[in-house]
Formats: sequence, structure tokens, C-alpha cells
Amino acid sequence: MTGNESRTQAIYEITNREPIEAKAPKKLEDIWASNVFSLSKMQATLPKDVFKSLKETIKTGKKLDPSVADTVAGAMRDWAISKGAMYYAHVFYPLTGGTAEKHDGFISPQSDGGVISEFSGKLLIQGEPDGSSFPNGGIRDTFEARGYTGWDVTSPAYILENEMGATLCIPTVFVSWTGEALDKKTPLLRSIAVVDKAANRVLKLLGNTDVAPVNSSCGAEQEYFLVDANFANARPDLLLAGRTLFGKAPAKGQQFDDHYFGAIPPRVQAYMHDIETRLYKLGIPAKTSHNEVAPGQFEIAPVFESANVASDHQQQIMTTLRDAAVDHGFMCLLHEKPFAGINGSGKHVNWSIGNSTQGNLLDPGDTPEENLQFLAFCGAVIRGVHLFGPLMRAVIATASNDHRLGANEAPPAIMSVYLGSQLEDIFNQIKEGKLVGSSHKGVMHLGVDVLPPLSKDAGDRNRTSPFAFTGNRFEFRAVGSSQSVSGPLIALNTMMADSLSWIADQLEAKVGSGSSPEETGNAVQAILKDIMDKHGVAVFGGNGYSDEWHKEAVEQRGLLNIPTTADALPYLKESSVVELFKTTGVLSPTELESRFEVYAEQYILSIEVEAKLVVDIAKTLIYPAVMRHLGEAAGTVANLSDIGVSVDKTPVEKVAGLAKSLLDGANELDSAIAKHDFGSTEEHMDYCAGTIRDMMNSIREAADTLEGEIADDLWPLPTYEEMLFIK
Ligand code: ADP
Ligand code: MG
Repeated sequence: MTGNESRTQAIYEITNREPIEAKAPKKLEDIWASNVFSLSKMQATLPKDVFKSLKETIKTGKKLDPSVADTVAGAMRDWAISKGAMYYAHVFYPLTGGTAEKHDGFISPQSDGGVISEFSGKLLIQGEPDGSSFPNGGIRDTFEARGYTGWDVTSPAYILENEMGATLCIPTVFVSWTGEALDKKTPLLRSIAVVDKAANRVLKLLGNTDVAPVNSSCGAEQEYFLVDANFANARPDLLLAGRTLFGKAPAKGQQFDDHYFGAIPPRVQAYMHDIETRLYKLGIPAKTSHNEVAPGQFEIAPVFESANVASDHQQQIMTTLRDAAVDHGFMCLLHEKPFAGINGSGKHVNWSIGNSTQGNLLDPGDTPEENLQFLAFCGAVIRGVHLFGPLMRAVIATASNDHRLGANEAPPAIMSVYLGSQLEDIFNQIKEGKLVGSSHKGVMHLGVDVLPPLSKDAGDRNRTSPFAFTGNRFEFRAVGSSQSVSGPLIALNTMMADSLSWIADQLEAKVGSGSSPEETGNAVQAILKDIMDKHGVAVFGGNGYSDEWHKEAVEQRGLLNIPTTADALPYLKESSVVELFKTTGVLSPTELESRFEVYAEQYILSIEVEAKLVVDIAKTLIYPAVMRHLGEAAGTVANLSDIGVSVDKTPVEKVAGLAKSLLDGANELDSAIAKHDFGSTEEHMDYCAGTIRDMMNSIREAADTLEGEIADDLWPLPTYEEMLFIK
């Protein structure tokens, strides 16, 4: 098929789709967590003492008693086999941001020719995948390829089904044989432990006697695009890079704002229901699904869970979105910017910390100005954002997210924190040295409750901030849609742990044991004033998209605007960041360095893949189509002149000129990609961010103009109109 034939065929396939077969509605209670080896299933199948010991570990992070492993493994195997599983897999989360699985059979052949299913505690606790094929940033040489997976008891095992069978999946960490973290889960677990320890100190210093372990929570809103597979499969760029590298803007985009929260097309609705059923079986609390701003863009958000489980579940959500799309004849695009000129996709990471005794520590209550405990935790966040803004930028830095950040639809590449007018006012009063009360509700003194409960959230909405307080949590809005949430959560938890430890040190120095609540209150206010004096510049409530902010942030406030991944990743090597991870023990300097290496390499590789695609598509799809058009047009012009009909040659000349730019550009880019003699990884990244991307952009400009000039029946790629509007 050439040119428009494949597009016509795709449209035919889509409009003649068999209607989706209605399925009998399922009861939530019947399917909920049916494929999860949950606490209740453990309780039902394990001896009392084993269950108690395991539950202790899950709930409080207490060290796992290895002697229980055999019993747990046996119960897990029996349950899995009863669900039809013949295999098990250690699931881990390598630095690529994806999910990896090492599959094994339960099968154990016997000497009498028979076979039994075997799964011991040893196999449950530890596995040894061939680690050499996962990026490790130089931690291991390939000749020392040993990598171990280790059971993470705090994230439940589950069964993954497909038509051909079922597999018991066991969430694990992935470490090298020298004990270094090769994955995203190990440091996440460490960061959860350090924030617990630091928060506990502060809570006790504030006078709480009963303090349960503090955990961090995460609720991640996932945006995605759906494109019919008939179109997507005809676009090499979507297949290999997940985004369109070419494509003229459609006449109608999102300017009518008619897609946001609009009616969901029935075919998409069926897909969403299917997703929800699959997720419910896995015990993943998917709650909201709706249309997003751009045509063809949607969102799914689960209810928040503890950070570690939420992170594993987020990976499963991404896998499920992609897999189910295939069954529904779609391709699900998780890329941050699949279509130029149209909103991109983010993953808002809603984050809070809390425990079972003091509750959500970021909940301001009705009178935040009196809630010292809340103010202390909120102050810790402000300090963290200011000190470690560049780290926050670095953990959301990917080649794909760069297209979205700083564009007109997504948070800027400058890290600041939005508190909402009421809280911002309270913190400004603290800075002035006197907290007189909430500005909206008249004058009052700390500790005297004369105010009626507030009916509005302390945090208003601000869609332009990368990191916004939204009532009882912070929303990290700059995270990219295709990313693992672990990196951002690790950064937030670790920054928070550092700030809380700092606050605890200050408090210890200021107030001894047996000091009065008033003395403690004054000490906290003094500490918060200090935080605002030093770090208040990171608090910003205005329009983060505006040019004025970009100027003010950099010139007056000394905040950093870090536009690209090439600029951001080197901050992972900054001494303050190295020190932060080292002192907290979340990442050793070697582990951090390896992350820089891996992420930098991924950045370079993804731009190289895109650049190669640009060359291929320009030369083998677009240029030939343009030449066909020119052949036809030039022939007609010549024929008409032959018979004395005057005809305008300029369109032909214009197309010929553009065709030359396209081809020249593609050839130049082809040679540019071949350059590999760089002095450093940083230099190579800069080259990709600048030279290569610029060349890609100018080739695209020529191609997109050509798309508007040549005969539509010759255009070889499904168009933006088709992909965005035909469902
Ligand atoms: P939005 O208005 O930002 O679109 P949604 O309700 O779609 O909000 O999603 C908000 C996300 O924040 C959900 O995943 C929700 O469970 C989560 N969330 C709510 N409260 C908290 C909290 N205290 N800590 C962490 N996440 C939370
Ligand atoms: Mg949100």
C-alpha cells in the first residue's frame, strides 16, 4: 500500500469495527483483589504466629523473620495453583523506569518420572536474574553480572493472567552482589524509612507521646492518549518513539476546550471499564477516569496508597493501560508529548506523610494558623523545595518530559512551591516575626481559637505551579506521564527527612525536655521564621507560565530555570545532593553516580532513536511522496503550457524547494548522529539537546509545510486529524 491507501484502509477498518460485545456486569465484591495474596488471604491460610510476624513486618517495617518464609511460600504456592498459576516471577523495577520479570516454573521433575509443584521459602525470598542486561551505570562490570532480587514483603504478591495461563508475581528489590541498589524500589524503601525516623523525632519533640510509624502516601493521576491501532501501526514514529515526529497541526485542535470532562466515546468507555476490572482484580483502587484537555486524551487516577504500594501499582497501571489497549484496537500513548501543539500528558504525584496516631501531617485542619504541627511539616517542605529544587527538576528529567515542561500547558522548569493565599499569608506573617492569625478571618493570637471552622481549603488550585499544596497534600505536577513515580517519591521523602531532621536538631537545641507548650510553640515559630527568611523565595502563588515569573524567579529570587534534561541531570552530581543522599543513607555516592550515568545514557539514546527515525521517515516515506506529487504536478504544468494554457508554476517551485530542504536536512542529520567523540557525557547530552534537536525541528518544519502543500491522497502518514478525531 502506498500513501493514502493505508490511511483509507485504516479508516475503513475503524468505521466497520464489530460492536463491542456487552459483558455481564460484575460485582465489585466478587472481583476486588481476587488476584492478590492479600492480608486476609494470608490470615486465612497461614498459622497464627506466622501471620502475626508477617503482618508486623508489613505494618511497621519490622525486620522479616526468615524462618517464616517456607510456610508463607507454601501458602502462596497453594493459593496461586488454585488460581491456575503454573509459574512464578520476581518482579522488579530497573533504572529504565519499566517493570522487569524473571519467570520460573513451579515445576520440579521427580526421579520416578512424575512431577510436583515446588516453591520454597528460599525461592520466595531471593532470585538471581541475569543482571547484566539491565543498565547499572558502571556499578558492575559485565563479568560480575550477578544481580539479586529480594522479596519485598510490604507489597503484596499477585497473579497476572492472560489467555495462555497465569503467573504468581512477587514484588522484589534488585541489587548487585555488592549490595548496591540497581533498581527504583530499594531507595524508595530506604527513603520511606528515613522520613519515618525524622518525622517521629519531630512529632515527639512537639509533645506527642504516642507516635506510630510515619509513612508517605502517593496518589498518582495518569494522563494518556488513545490512538486507533490502525493509524498508530502505520506511523513508525509512534511505534518506536511513542510520539509523532511529524504532523501538521489540524484545523481544529483543543481551542474549543470541548474535550475536557466531555462525554467519553463509547469505545473508550468500554476500554476504561475493562481497565478498571483488570485493576480491581489486582487490588488497585482505580477511582476516576475522564477526558482530558486534548482531543484523544484521558486520565485515570487511583485512590492514594502507601508510597511503596502506590509505586508498584502505578507500574501495573501503565502496563495494563498498554496491554488492554491492544485488545481494544487502540495504542495507548504514555509519552509526555505525543502530538506537537496539543497538550501533553503528565502524572500528578499527590504526596503526603502521616501515621495512624497523628493522622495526615499535611492536613492544616480548620485553623492552620494554630496548627503548629502542620506548620512545622509544611515549613519542612518549603525548606526542601528551596534547597533541592534542582534535584526535583532532575528526577523528572527525561527526553520526553522536556517537550512538556515550560511549554504553555505544563509547569515551568523552575521549581517553586504554591501554598494558596491563606497559607502563604500565614507563612509571610511568620516571616514578619508575628503570627497574628489568618488574614481572611480577622485578628487573633496563636493558641486562642476564636475562629469558626473554615469552609474552604487552605490551598486554592493553581494549575501553573510545578509543586502545589492542594488542601492536605502536595501535588508534584511536573512529573511526566511515562515515568515511574519512584524517583519523585524518593526525592520528596529524602528532602523531607533532611528538613525534618534539621527542624528536630533546632528544636532540641532550643527547648529541653519538660519545656512548656508555649516555649515549644515559640521555638517552632522561630524555626519557621528562619526557614522563611532563608527559603521563602521558593514560595510562589502567581502565574507560573508567565514571562514575568521566569524573569523574577531567576533574576530576583535566584531560583534556577533548568530547561532541558541535559541541564538537569548534572545536578545529581552536585555536592549538596550527593551529601543529602549519603547522610540519609538513601543512595550511596556510587549508587547516585550510577543513576546519573544511566539516565544520561537513556536521554542520549532516546534522542538518537528519534533522530534516526526522522532521517528514515523523511527519506523513505515523505520525500518519495513529495517526488510523486512533483512528478504529477510538473507533468501537468508542462502539458498545459504545451497547449498554450497559462499555469502558475510557483506551487511546484515551492514544493521542490521544500523537498530539497527536507532531503538536505535529513542528510545532514544523518551525519550529525554519527558523531561520537565527546569529551564527557555532559557534552554529549548538550549536543543532543541542542544540535540534534534543532536539526530535527527544522526537518519537521519543512515536512509539516509540505503536508499542507501536496496532494492528500499521496501523503503517507496518518494525519493529526485522523489520529485525534477518529475513534
Ligand atoms: P485533581 O483534582 O487533582 O484531578 P483527583 O481527585 O483526580 O484530583 O486526584 C487526586 C489524587 O490525590 C487521587 O489519587 C487521590 O487519592 C490523591 N490524594 C487525596 N488525598 C491524598 C493524600 N492525603 N495524600 C496523597 N494523595 C492523596
Ligand atoms: Mg491533579
